[in-house]
Amino acid sequence: MRHSSFRAAIAAVALLSVTPAVSAAPTKGDAPVTEADLAAHMKILAGDAFEGRAPGTEGEDRTIAYIVGEWAKAGLEAVPGSATPWLQPVPFVETQALGGTAKFTVQGRNLALANDGIVLTGRDASVSLVGVPAVFVGYGVDGAGQVNADVKGKLAIMMFDNAPFGDKLPRYRERRQLLADAGASAVLVIATDAVPWDALRESVGSKVMRLASAKSGAPVSGFLSPEAADALLKASGQDGAALREAAKSPDYKGATLPVTVDFTAQSAIRPFASHNIVAKLPGAKPDGKAILFLGHWDHLGICAPEGEADRICNGAVDNASGIAVLIEVAKRLGRGARPDRDIYFLATTAEEKGLLGAHYFADHPAVPLSDITVALNVDTIAISPRGTPVATIGRGKPAYDAVVREAATKLGRTLDDDGEADAFIQRQDGWALGAKGVTSLMVGGSFSDMKLLEAFLGSDYHRPADEFSDKIPLGGAAEDADLHVALGRAFADTKRWPGK
Ligand SMILES: [Zn+2]
Repeated sequence: MRHSSFRAAIAAVALLSVTPAVSAAPTKGDAPVTEADLAAHMKILAGDAFEGRAPGTEGEDRTIAYIVGEWAKAGLEAVPGSATPWLQPVPFVETQALGGTAKFTVQGRNLALANDGIVLTGRDASVSLVGVPAVFVGYGVDGAGQVNADVKGKLAIMMFDNAPFGDKLPRYRERRQLLADAGASAVLVIATDAVPWDALRESVGSKVMRLASAKSGAPVSGFLSPEAADALLKASGQDGAALREAAKSPDYKGATLPVTVDFTAQSAIRPFASHNIVAKLPGAKPDGKAILFLGHWDHLGICAPEGEADRICNGAVDNASGIAVLIEVAKRLGRGARPDRDIYFLATTAEEKGLLGAHYFADHPAVPLSDITVALNVDTIAISPRGTPVATIGRGKPAYDAVVREAATKLGRTLDDDGEADAFIQRQDGWALGAKGVTSLMVGGSFSDMKLLEAFLGSDYHRPADEFSDKIPLGGAAEDADLHVALGRAFADTKRWPGK
């Protein structure tokens, strides 16, 4: 753990420096959020001094200090009764690979795989496995989401990409865990062409972070580059392309390979705490229902290999933009006419590691989940210009959709309800709350124009190039911020919204 006393100190400073919000007099309306408002926060949060906001680093300390300071200025308060005001400690275990070997034997002959095509992490400090038989499992699950092959005591070789035979099927991390739960000795994930192998190897290959409370994975896990996987399959007498094709069936049962593997892996195991930031704007006439705004503060930290000129993944769009919006929304709701209902603000940690901070909050909520009438997640919001229609991830509940429609229309926005945005439903923190029955929406223009979004995902996303510059479009984010102020007011209004 690092600088925990520093954190306590900044929380105390934030508390003391708050002048009580002057909120009794209703304002005429909320001042529009401007591009400059958002840019000011993003420049700081995505600055190199924040080191890419990786959980458990000094970048986390700086991020917490900034967000708590801004939210306190906005008039938010620590949640009463919390043991660590403003902060929810989230216990993690990080496993860093120190070294490892995989010796493949194909029909009695050694097969050398290029070293840079495989990354291994051991579950424990030192792991040694001998003669592990291998099975290619495709996506690892069938159409019902159940493990599709007998993997007990085996190496399961699984594909990274989402299974093409259902949109509610688990993503690769969960599938990897299912295979571990089914007794796999090792799970190797074949990387996708969609993520550059070097970036994947650097960002997720060598370090694995999990909630301390989570089930542990297989004794050995890791990644194979697409080329290394093809070489292995070819040496096994298999056609990689044909196997991938066969795996697209929801009934695929996997293929046993004439391969055994000896593994060794050495790892450094580090328990540490990161933090969700939780704050509350007490309602003027609370009725037991609450609104939750959330967005993730974390990003990937130092993400590029040594020797690169720029090694910091600053995460300007992902998700300094969302935090900037949540700061400005808090200011308007905190300083303007006080809403009826309690409004909570949550900045989550470790979204980039699999929505881990959001999952932890969902398991240890600061307010009973059944009281949350709506959760509004804000992530990667600086994509589109002004005038972009409003899409909603998680739409389909007519009463909620009507509130969004009314708020957007009043602001002169048009609605995009072609449903394309739902492709991202599992890739955002709202998913962790939605899984527990909380209505979770992600509303805005960034998920409306798929061309713009995909251009970002295919270029700067999760790379050092996602850094602050004047070229980032903030017009759409500013409009979306105004929309979130309006949505906060609408859902917190006991006369307008029944609080389902
Ligand atoms: Zn991300």
